Formats: sequence, C-alpha cells, structure tokens
Amino acid sequence: MPTRATSELPAAGFSALGLPDTTLAALTALGYEEPTPIQRAAIPPLLAGRDVLAQAATGTGKTAAFALPLLANLRPNAAPRERTSALVLVPTRELAMQVAEAIYRYGQASGAVALPIYGGAPMEGQIRSLKRGVDVVIATPGRALDHIRRKTVFLANLTTVVLDEADEMLDMGFAEDLEAILAATPAEKQVALFSATLAPRIAAIARTHLRDPEVIKIDAEKVKAGAIAKVRQVAYIVGRAHKTAALGRILDVEQPTSAIVFCRTRNEVDEVSETLKAQGYGAEALHGGLSQDQRDRVMKRFRAKGAELLVATDVAARGLDVQHVSHVVNYDVPSASDAYVHRIGRTGRAGRSGVAITLAEPREHRMLRNFERATGRPIETLPLPTVADLKARRVEAAQDALREVLREGGLESWRGLVAPLASEFDPLDIAAAAVKQAARALGNEEEAAEIPAATVRPERHPAREREADRKERKAAKPAARGAVVRGKGDTMAKLYVGAGRKLKVRPGDIVGAIANETGLEGTRIGTITVFDRHSIVEVPEGSADGIVAALSVATIKGKKVQVRRDRAG
Ligand code: AMP
Repeated sequence: MPTRATSELPAAGFSALGLPDTTLAALTALGYEEPTPIQRAAIPPLLAGRDVLAQAATGTGKTAAFALPLLANLRPNAAPRERTSALVLVPTRELAMQVAEAIYRYGQASGAVALPIYGGAPMEGQIRSLKRGVDVVIATPGRALDHIRRKTVFLANLTTVVLDEADEMLDMGFAEDLEAILAATPAEKQVALFSATLAPRIAAIARTHLRDPEVIKIDAEKVKAGAIAKVRQVAYIVGRAHKTAALGRILDVEQPTSAIVFCRTRNEVDEVSETLKAQGYGAEALHGGLSQDQRDRVMKRFRAKGAELLVATDVAARGLDVQHVSHVVNYDVPSASDAYVHRIGRTGRAGRSGVAITLAEPREHRMLRNFERATGRPIETLPLPTVADLKARRVEAAQDALREVLREGGLESWRGLVAPLASEFDPLDIAAAAVKQAARALGNEEEAAEIPAATVRPERHPAREREADRKERKAAKPAARGAVVRGKGDTMAKLYVGAGRKLKVRPGDIVGAIANETGLEGTRIGTITVFDRHSIVEVPEGSADGIVAALSVATIKGKKVQVRRDRAG
C-alpha cells in the first residue's frame, strides 16, 4: 500500500513521543520524517525523568535521542550562571562540537544555549561564555574537571547528566575523571548513558550511577541469508564534506540501470536529487512532503525508466512497489540494522544480482559491523574511485557504445563522409579524432579532481595525544620485528593485507600504516606474518573494522592494497 501523502506526517511520529511543539516544528524544518528506533525508545523515558542506559553507535540518531528531551527542561529565567540544567560528557573535541551544533539546531527556537568546552582551546573564552549563561554544557572530561576545580562552571542546578560514547571515554582512560565529575554533580539528577557496546565495565558504571534505568538495546533480528544472498554489499568511508562528490563519482563508475538512493531527511533528498540532476542524471526526489499526485508522477517516471535514480527517504520508500533495482545506495547510513536490511532488500530480488552501496562517515564505521551481523554477510570497504578509475570506466563505456554502433551497421553514408580523409590520414587516427570530437561535445573532457580519502581515525584528547605518540614510537620497534605485543585483555581479529614479500613488505610497514592511518598504538597490534603475496596481522577486535576502512584508502609501499578480515581466522 502506498504511504499516505501527508503534510501532517513529518512530526506525527515525533509528536507521539511527547515533545513540545517548538521542538516538533524545528524537526519538521530540518526535514526529519520520523524518529529513529533509538529516539522512539529513549525519548519517552527521558522526558519522564527516568535514567536510561542505551546501546547506540554514531549514526543511529542518538544525539537527538538525548538532546531533544534536554530541551524540554530548560530554565531560561534563572540567573545566567545558575542556568545550566544539563551536562553532556563526550570523548572528543570533534564530538563536543557536533553535539553542540545539533542542540543549537534543535533548540534555536526554544532559545537554548549550548556550549562545547574541550581541551586545547583557551579557558578564558569558555569562562566568559559560561558566565553569560549556558543551558547545556557539552564537555570532554578533562576540561570539564578543569572548570569544576576552578569553580568556573556551576553544576548545582543540573537536572541531567549525559554520558555520550561512554565506551570511548573509558577506552581513552577517562574513568577516574568521570567519577570525579559525577561526584561534583547533585545527587538528585537524571543520568543517561549512551555507548556503542554494553561491555561489563559500562554495566559497572551503570550500576553505580544509574537508578532503575530503562535499558535500551536496538538489536536487529538476523535475516535469512537467502533473502539477500545475491546482493553484493560494499561501503565507502567518506567525510561529510565530500559525500556528494563521492556519490557522483561512484554512480559514474557503477553506471546503475536503476537505483534508489536513500537519504535521512527531506532536505537532503532535495539537495541530493538537485545535485545529481545538475550532473546529468535522471533523478527524481521522493519524500513525505510530496502530495499523492506528485508521488504518483515521480513513480511513473521511475518505472517507465524516464529516470534512473530515485532519491528517497525511508518513509517515502516504504510500501513502494518497485520490482527490481540494480543498485541501492545508502547516501547516509541507515539508523538501524533493520532499516539497512529493508533498504537493500530492494535489490537482488527474484534471484537477480544487485549491489548495495553504503557511504559511511568515518565515525559511523561501527554501523557497518552491525549491518554485517544482521545480514550475516561481509560488507567490503572499498577505496573511493579515483580519477584514473573514472577514466578507465569512461573508456570502457565509449568502447561499448562504439561496438554497438558497429554491430548495428548502416555505416555506408558515414564511410562516404570520412573516405576522402583516408588518403591524408591513418584510418585509426581518423576514428580517434571522431571519438575525441564526440567526447568534447559531451563535455567528457573536463578534468575530474580526486576526492580526498577519509580515514577512520579515533581522535584523542590532546594531552593524551602526546603520551600516545610517545608510546607509538616506542612500540613501532618490537612490532616491526614481528614480536607479539598486545594490549592486555584485547580480543584479537586477523586481517588479510594483500601485500607481502614480493612487494618487499616488512612488518614495520604494516605497523606504520596502521599507526599513521588510525592512530592505534603499536603495542596493541599482535603478530604480523608476512607471506609471499599477502600478510596476516592481528589487531584488537574492536578496532578491526576501523583499520580495514582506513587502510583500504591508504597505501602500503606506495600501493593501494586489499585489506579485509581474514576469512580463515
Ligand atoms: P547521530 O547518530 O546522533 O550522530 O545522528 C546521525 C545523523 O542523523 C545526524 O546527521 C542527524 O542530524 C540525523 N538524524 C537524527 N535523527 C534523525 C531523524 N529522526 N530523521 C532524520 N535524520 C536524523
């Protein structure tokens, strides 16, 4: 059944959660159509004042899950210094800025003031801003403690503390800082803990600091492998700023016959479809803001192959009767494994093969692991197509097109046109000139630029960065000799690296590549065994996917090499 056309749809899913009207209006303006699973599960208990323990990685919509309820609890009439009602603790400066930006977007209409405070930035500016009055302070633990000790942040009126990416904060050695910060907050408060894993040490924090929490785990049921057996799943890691360029490049190389490109929001559907149209694609936009008539027209054009690309939100694509598409592209990672499985099920139907492509931002690489678990099949992380790949693809396409024209025949009159040139020039040159002229007319001569590769680099607290760098330098040596040095208690995964002795690869090259690309300390890399054409390297399980993603866009001995989880291990 087609989804209803709806101007009332956008906020509908959110308004059922009990959010205030100003917040609902902000979400509609941002083009959000429905809450993600973590938002559906976490917002009502948080609004009701309950503690929450939630398993959610970046990409699930977790930020809005804790930020939206915070906006319902502001105290705008308090004296500026006493106004702070929420403290959000995050592992990195980058995340502090992202969360502050999200709260600003959601809370602009409510007049909410959010301030990120992190190490490495001057204290004075932060102190001045805090004095002026801040509703939500988003801080890295070290800097939060600094402000608490100097009494430059006032926490007595806090109603909520959020621990965001708690597992990363512990990984970075912030456990003691967290304890000290929590001890400085009022005893009566709401605590929300978000973490990609609910490992025992997270459970331990929860036991001490959370009271009768609502425990939220969004686990997908594993799908039957048969359902998506013929879908090849690939992913590209790409920074937000380069996503549109990357999408265009991938489509140019993949040349889908018909594809659905999924985006998170209406606004993004509009932007992406406009950009693709400008690049010469037949692209149609489909989202919940369109009337039934508009949708029908869009679908008619897509089915009649008048457009090869349908750019859609999940809500709009739900219930669409599209028999088969060659490609499903996740322009944004879906917010849960279920949505991923549902999206990619639209290709590879009826025993045909299909390709599912996911663009993931560096911080979202964990989601890929969840999708692999849900589908029981690997997702291959590929380097972005280079300009050379694009050129090769264009050459292939041009050759295919010429072959077709040659097979069609009926070239007699055209032969007459070029025959007089044959006495002056070589026939191959004449053909080459004709193709060059055709390419010029199509604008295919334009020089394309390389898209910068993104790497999955866990960011660090600046103070710890120096320490980690020192450790890395110390560690590089023993590991380079192939010694087994591993972090205490790490479960190790084996990675296959497609370069070995024939390329004169030594263990040190692999340690160097991993350390440079991911920031993982050398001490945490296990045995490295170099074979003739490949190498096997042991790395901590939790970092394995990040390393695969990072190395697949990096070079070893100046060469791009295949890196994946070792199938034997
Ligand atoms: P997060 O997992 O919090 O990093 O969020 C991932 C991205 O999803 C962010 O870019 C959000 O703006 C976006 N987002 C969060 N919730 C929704 C929603 N309900 N609908 C559409 N986009 C969303």
